Amino acid sequence: VALTEFEIIRRYFARAQLAFARDGVVLGPGDDCALLALPPGEELAISIDTLNVGVHFPKDADPFLLAQRCLLVNLSDLAAMGAEPVGFTLALSLPTVDENWISQFSNGLAKVAQSYQCSLLGGDTTKGALSITIQVHGRVPARQSLRRKGARVGDRIYVSGTLGDAAAALCWMQNRSPFRGKALDDDSAEFFRNAFYRPQVSIEAGISLRRLASAALDISDGLASDLGHILEAGDLSPGSQTQNKASGRIGAVLDVHKLPLSVMFLRYVPPARQLALALAGGDDYGLCVTVAPALEAQAVSRMQALGIEFTCVGQIEKAPGIRMRDAQGVTAPLTFRGYQHFGVKDG
Ligand code: ADP
Ligand code: MG
Repeated sequence: VALTEFEIIRRYFARAQLAFARDGVVLGPGDDCALLALPPGEELAISIDTLNVGVHFPKDADPFLLAQRCLLVNLSDLAAMGAEPVGFTLALSLPTVDENWISQFSNGLAKVAQSYQCSLLGGDTTKGALSITIQVHGRVPARQSLRRKGARVGDRIYVSGTLGDAAAALCWMQNRSPFRGKALDDDSAEFFRNAFYRPQVSIEAGISLRRLASAALDISDGLASDLGHILEAGDLSPGSQTQNKASGRIGAVLDVHKLPLSVMFLRYVPPARQLALALAGGDDYGLCVTVAPALEAQAVSRMQALGIEFTCVGQIEKAPGIRMRDAQGVTAPLTFRGYQHFGVKDG
């Protein structure tokens, strides 16, 4: 006998494994609304992401892993804002009541929710094509959030973690080059599965970078594209206020030989494909931040204390656009054409 909507909610979502006593939460699921109460002087940070079957994940995706990815990509937005989690809501659209699927999905949510102490506060459960929407709610002291706006000429550009692993993982899962027809050993398979489904999100990293980073975001579309957002939002250098917006935009140089690449990435992705996947592959969910030179040492030592790989990959410059610089110091523009080329996922 199929469960009713209310039984599904009670059994798999309004459950103890998804509820944690935490400052800010007054009331969780079960009423018409959840209630939050932040202490004075704090701001509420909100972000939402939808994942649709066939668009963002395959129909046969493992529900335990899928749930983790759904929640982690939302938590990544909080981290990038310097916020810490309070709770999340879940809008779930299911084609059928497959209790095994729902139960594994719930367990995946609980795994991440527990490790980030982020409670499920409520949601909506409906029938339809499989779709998962999560909205996360976080808190951050007033005026301390990390924004995309704020990078200045001379700031260093840092990324956390490694680049391109999730993009490589997607090639593997879709049996595309450079993995086509290749059987991976267990360790490699586990590495790439985790790279895609379980991005490493560090709330502590975002918190530690408050007051240190001049701009920040999480890398979801690839460093080239996401750094572009920071440049678009960036402060004009002093004295250039009168220039028109387009010519007043700041730019950046990326030291492509310094991009942090994992051992597994280097093992499977041939050199000719590495830049494309690392710069434009997407789904990395590490942080990209800019830091003024005077604060650089402090930022580096805080990330070190957290055990987070934190790599300087370039610098903000006055000239608009993104340039790539190799180990010999030779610079080439990352042109729109170049970017389009990098955007091609199968080479
Ligand atoms: P309403 O019709 O008032 O919106 P619902 O019947 O949709 O109420 O939901 C009843 C309660 O169950 C609400 O508190 C809602 O937040 C919660 N709920 C529904 N679906 C989910 C879900 N997938 N996860 C968590 N809570 C849920
Ligand atoms: Mg409802």
